[in-house]
Amino acid sequence: FSSRLKDPSILPAKGYVGGEWMGDALSGKTFEVTNPATGEVLATLPDMGAEETRRAIDVAYDAQKAWAAKTGKERAAILRKWNDLLLANADDLALILTAEMGKPFAEARGEILYGASFIEWFAEEAKRVYGDTIPGHQADKRIVVIKQPVGVVGAITPWNFPNAMIARKVAPALAVGCAMVSKPAEQTPLSAIALAKLGEKAGVPAGLFSVIVGLDGPAIGKELCGNDKVRKITFTGSTEVGRILMRQSADQIKKVSLELGGNAPFIVFDDADVDAAVDGAMISKYRNAGQTCVCANRLYVQAGVYDEFAEKLAKRVADTLKVGDGFGDGVTTGPLIDNQGLDKVKDHIADALSKGAKALVGGKPHEKGGTFFEPTVLANVTKDMKVAREETFGPVAPLFRFETVDDVIAQANDTEFGLASYFYARDLSRVWKVAEALEYGMVGVNTGLVSTEVAPFGGFKQSGLGREGSKYGVEDFLEIKYICFGGI
Ligand code: ADP
Repeated sequence: FSSRLKDPSILPAKGYVGGEWMGDALSGKTFEVTNPATGEVLATLPDMGAEETRRAIDVAYDAQKAWAAKTGKERAAILRKWNDLLLANADDLALILTAEMGKPFAEARGEILYGASFIEWFAEEAKRVYGDTIPGHQADKRIVVIKQPVGVVGAITPWNFPNAMIARKVAPALAVGCAMVSKPAEQTPLSAIALAKLGEKAGVPAGLFSVIVGLDGPAIGKELCGNDKVRKITFTGSTEVGRILMRQSADQIKKVSLELGGNAPFIVFDDADVDAAVDGAMISKYRNAGQTCVCANRLYVQAGVYDEFAEKLAKRVADTLKVGDGFGDGVTTGPLIDNQGLDKVKDHIADALSKGAKALVGGKPHEKGGTFFEPTVLANVTKDMKVAREETFGPVAPLFRFETVDDVIAQANDTEFGLASYFYARDLSRVWKVAEALEYGMVGVNTGLVSTEVAPFGGFKQSGLGREGSKYGVEDFLEIKYICFGGI
């Protein structure tokens, strides 16, 4: 597969452990990475585990000290070069991403630019890790606050954004002087390997950023959480695994940043621009075949515009979405990642239909077979259905009808999750009140797309801890130190 790249050197079939490219796991075992659209085997990788993780942590622990001693400007120069290499290799990186994950090539290319934007942003922030001076509490005292890197960070990432989820962790970590040992999802390790290879070419010192590839996430996770040289865990993935990692980090009181599941409400009020709301729903719901943690999961439409919105959305889905291999011409919707993902979508739809919902379009596996699924719009959805409570992670838009603002706020907030939310309305007072009432870390008002490196991404409630991106994203990788000068 790597021979299809313009520069095959960016994709060795190896893990990157403490600055060393390892083609063989210590266990001698291997695993295959496959294309979810075709089943083609893309690479056979060493199946690494706890021992390789420990080795990477040891090297990172030593390498981090010299890295932290550099100036912000020196670190920024390397990150800047890394960003430039990502952009220069965007086509190859997108090709790798579509092949291992399935999203359409144009979307994959968009992810590469999005991932690089974090490296650029945090390269700039590397120079701006400011502290404080505080007037002393006694006449002979002076107080200074400085910020220092937490040290070695363990990162675990999911398959739905194989490049960007790592980029937005490693960029702030390295920018402020931390080292990182990462474990990409077993379905999509190739994007992580290529990212690390380009980092090496950009001059990221050996051992600062490791990529442990392997099937045994729990074993690697245990080592990262249980090794006392690791001072922080940053994770993106399911709430279930986030809980495990937080528990495992408790023994050593490690810092934890978690970006977990969502159950995003998307609300259309009577005074909304309905066509704009349809545009927003298309991007928020069907991007990445519905497989993002900020995808609209429940669409609440006020009674006065319900029929119009339902009809227009169903028509747009039927007319504009094309399911297929992400490399195919005009394809907007790739396969679901695996059979488990497919089963969940089927289960949610069967449950909704059996309780009275109606499929306006789609509703079943696509005739292409495999894990391809028809983009679906369900009407007459009610809160006793699974789609109301669980994250579907597929191309399914369930439409709920509501009457009043209070009613929809109560329903939108009736979930343990609190990541992204969206609503369409034009009345200024309503816009403010609803934005403030939604118990979510992110609120899109009259837009279906909120992700950007310049704003804080993260959730309330069981959707997580901490923020990624923006000036707030830097703080998660820093310790605050207060220095008290006496006898002045
Ligand atoms: P998803 O449903 O998106 O696959 P997961 O939370 O299962 O989400 O997976 C996200 C990441 O967490 C993957 O890299 C996976 O290998 C890893 N993972 C899964 N289980 C564990 C665990 N017990 N400890 C550490 N990492 C895990």
